[in-house]
Amino acid sequence: MDKKDEQALRGGRLLVLTGPAGVGKGTVETALRKKHPEVWVSVSATTRKPRPGEVNGLNYWFMSDDEFIAKEAAGEFLETAVVHGLAHYGTPLKPVEEHLASGTPTILEIDLQGARRVKERAKELGMEVLSVFIAPPSFDELVRRLTGRGTETEEERNRRLETAKVELAAESEFDVTIVNDNVDKAAEELWHLIAKEYGISE
Ligand code: 5GP
Repeated sequence: MDKKDEQALRGGRLLVLTGPAGVGKGTVETALRKKHPEVWVSVSATTRKPRPGEVNGLNYWFMSDDEFIAKEAAGEFLETAVVHGLAHYGTPLKPVEEHLASGTPTILEIDLQGARRVKERAKELGMEVLSVFIAPPSFDELVRRLTGRGTETEEERNRRLETAKVELAAESEFDVTIVNDNVDKAAEELWHLIAKEYGISE
């Protein structure tokens, strides 16, 4: 039996939660886990330094450049990215495979570029993915969330607007859309999707 068949027998697809910057996907994920702690969310590896209060293994797996690069070369990541041209980030592959194999609802919360890469890599690995796009209630609301404090320059604001437009247009690339007009409602919608996918009775 190949990996894909095993996964289909034991549980659901890997759930990839994505969406534009500022849409609140992290908040939706946190609300989901509060109510449904049986959901497992991948912990990324990073080479950036921990911020005050961040815990190794909880927020990220913090590691040195050398360690990250060695793991990357050994094929230990599902996907990697260099963010802001500075730090490496990556999704460790093995824990994702293990949680899927045990039938645990398994989620990656990742930006659009990362989600695209996961879709590609998963195909190569014979892993099935259900991709969920978290959308804002409207373009104006996304802009409001992105430019909330109003402290940015006109140029910065315009740049964010352009990015928001491009990122919103990515919606059609993904399997399902959940509108985040209310965090608890969006988390509940996500839970329904997971329960259906993993055959959990609600
Ligand atoms: P921060 O350093 O502020 O926690 O995250 C910076 C950026 O890295 C965010 O845009 C976040 O989405 C992205 N990021 C965090 N973990 C990963 C990962 O595993 N893979 C990718 N591609 N990006 C990640």
